[in-house]
Amino acid sequence: KVRVRFAPSPTGGLHLGGVRTALFNYLFARKHNGTFVLRVEDTDQNRFVEGAEEYIVNCLDWCGITPDESPNKPGAYGPYRQSERKSSYRKFAEQLISDGYAYYAFDTPEELDVKRKEFPNFQYGQATRMQMRNSLTLTLSEVEDLLAAKTPHVIRIKVPEDEIVHFSDLIRGDVSFETAIVDDKVLLKADGMPTYHLAVVVDDKAMEITHAFRGEEWLPSAPVHILLWKYLGWETDMPQWAHLPLILKPDGHGKLSKRDGDRLGFPVYAMNWIDPKTGDVTKGFKEMGFLPEAFVNILALLGWNDGTEQEIFTLVELEERFSMERISKAGAKFDFEKAKWYNHEWIKQTSVENLRVSVKNELQKAGIEVNDDRRLDTVIDLIKDRCTLLPDFVVQSGYFFTSPAVYDSASVKPKWTVEKAAFFETYAENINLGNAIEAEAAFKALAEEKGFKPGELMLPFRVMLVGGKFGPGVFDIAILLGTEETKSRIAKAIT
Ligand code: GLU
Repeated sequence: KVRVRFAPSPTGGLHLGGVRTALFNYLFARKHNGTFVLRVEDTDQNRFVEGAEEYIVNCLDWCGITPDESPNKPGAYGPYRQSERKSSYRKFAEQLISDGYAYYAFDTPEELDVKRKEFPNFQYGQATRMQMRNSLTLTLSEVEDLLAAKTPHVIRIKVPEDEIVHFSDLIRGDVSFETAIVDDKVLLKADGMPTYHLAVVVDDKAMEITHAFRGEEWLPSAPVHILLWKYLGWETDMPQWAHLPLILKPDGHGKLSKRDGDRLGFPVYAMNWIDPKTGDVTKGFKEMGFLPEAFVNILALLGWNDGTEQEIFTLVELEERFSMERISKAGAKFDFEKAKWYNHEWIKQTSVENLRVSVKNELQKAGIEVNDDRRLDTVIDLIKDRCTLLPDFVVQSGYFFTSPAVYDSASVKPKWTVEKAAFFETYAENINLGNAIEAEAAFKALAEEKGFKPGELMLPFRVMLVGGKFGPGVFDIAILLGTEETKSRIAKAIT
């Protein structure tokens, strides 16, 4: 039975790479009728940020990839926050010590600082551990005394010398590391909390995780985890690993980092993140006007494709088509222009009913209250093909709800004449819209009768109704505005 987990640390906003990790876990679970677990890895008290967990939950909800088990929806493997599992880790760290795979280290932060000053590349490990104050260098009774006196200490893994750690990765195939380059990572901290390394192994085992998919940035930690699985005697229960390709900056140079958003002019977070300390807002895709369906679609195609040319996928289609075999090893460039293209396609193919709430919301933010849903639906239907991001609906439809405050007169004025003004006066007096074809025919007939080419009157008419040179067919607009409103806009514009 497949069980996968998304295991974020609640340290701030959720980067799109994080959401993609969640998505791939989710898709794999759905595809195999498995369980998708959200586990909150909050053992690092220094990096813990208030509100980050709730934010993560909201992001997943917005994307429609809700976990089957989570802190809010506990299953049989709880608790789902590592801080609440604190008491379960120490015994494993101590078991590792008694089996000779770990040791107590009593070095104070000051002592470690001295070492780091002396050797800027200092690593606590094979080359240095025998010069430090730990249970490998102290006598048994010294260690017992220190422990009895409750001397602050950590527990470190004892990485073996000159071994090769192998594991097989679903994306990368066989991966191997020389233990010579792996340091003796802390497993249990002085405050009794496990580090990520111990907690992730103990919990993946306890929660019976079968597949562990995470970002490639975790690859260097993998040898420590593999050793722990082995040293704890759980090797046969170890999950299948898959390290997902990095998401790269648009130019392919380097990883897209949390800080790139501001610099490159597009969001890197799923939703707006408000820093609880400073109140600073970091923009998210949601608030920029992306549909969740589009956002999920974009993420799915960052490092994966189904082998065809198809680019637009619903979540349900992704659930069916997703396969680990089609994830690439190479990093995936993030292209914001392409992301907008996806959103545009999604707006075009989303039904009016499904767009209604979001559009209403955008209009409301712009101070436009809409009461008539049927009219709104007609408006949405008329303009949605012109919208790339949700706020575009305000620009593209605002004039249906309030008459234009400013006119793009520059495009009309140079060719404006008294005769044209007279034409519109007559037109307004006799206006009879009917349907769009009839309205157009009537307009053209009158234009010809008055000696105009209809083309030269169309643009001014549009500017009178809309304020500028944009929007769908001008007679569609007039009909939707209605006879009275059209007349009054003509009158307002020509006076
Ligand atoms: N807590 C880690 C993170 O913040 C999880 C890494 C993993 O999935 O093993 O991404």
